[in-house]
Amino acid sequence: MARKLAAGNWKMNGLSADLAEIRTLLQAPAPGCGVLVCPAATLVAAMAEACAGSFVAVGGQDCHAAAKGAHTGDVSAPMLADAGASHVILGHSERRADHGEDDALVKAKAEAALAAGLLPVICVGETEAERDAGETLAVVEAQLAGSLPETAGLVIAYEPVWAIGTGRTPTLEQIAEVHDAMRATLAARFGAAAEDIPLLYGGSVKPGNAAEIFAVSNVDGALVGGASLKAADFGAIITAL
Ligand code: PEP
Repeated sequence: MARKLAAGNWKMNGLSADLAEIRTLLQAPAPGCGVLVCPAATLVAAMAEACAGSFVAVGGQDCHAAAKGAHTGDVSAPMLADAGASHVILGHSERRADHGEDDALVKAKAEAALAAGLLPVICVGETEAERDAGETLAVVEAQLAGSLPETAGLVIAYEPVWAIGTGRTPTLEQIAEVHDAMRATLAARFGAAAEDIPLLYGGSVKPGNAAEIFAVSNVDGALVGGASLKAADFGAIITAL
């Protein structure tokens, strides 16, 4: 698995007409990094069809821990794979906040994703209060301990909750501190396989700050929300990687 990855999270945005942005993105030459776009579940199949055979992989934004059953409104990992997804975002702070998802549930979902052949993109990150209290590394370590699956086939996104959608980012030194710590934790847990795990930074990544963030130690790419919706912005971020 290539370690460099630019991933887009469309969140609860995007109608069929917005696939035009993906078609525009696909007109660029294939970049030297992996590219992933995660639309709402309603668009996964159509986006996967539009991206078939291209440099853009498609992912879901969540999956249920069960493969099927009486869970009205939910989407399972095999369903996402069947629709053409190769990845799924899990444990995003908006899921943790809006739906009360805890580390154990994220881990169960990650195991379900792996069983369905999907690569989980597991999100961790501290709140502003936790950072102010000096608890950032402890919070991230606890989230990693509780939400990682048993095997190393995964992607991690460090997303400080206070940086998501706010236009604020940690300093480059703060990002390096967390990413270096995560790499060490993963090495202790998975051994040499930890070297292959992409560590993404997420939270207000834009064309204007992407290059400096990508130059930070152990930052292998980004999980991008708002700036992934437009081909021009996301394309510029991909180029910076
Ligand atoms: C996200 O939702 O994962 C995210 C990083 O959002 P934004 O880039 O808009 O801050």
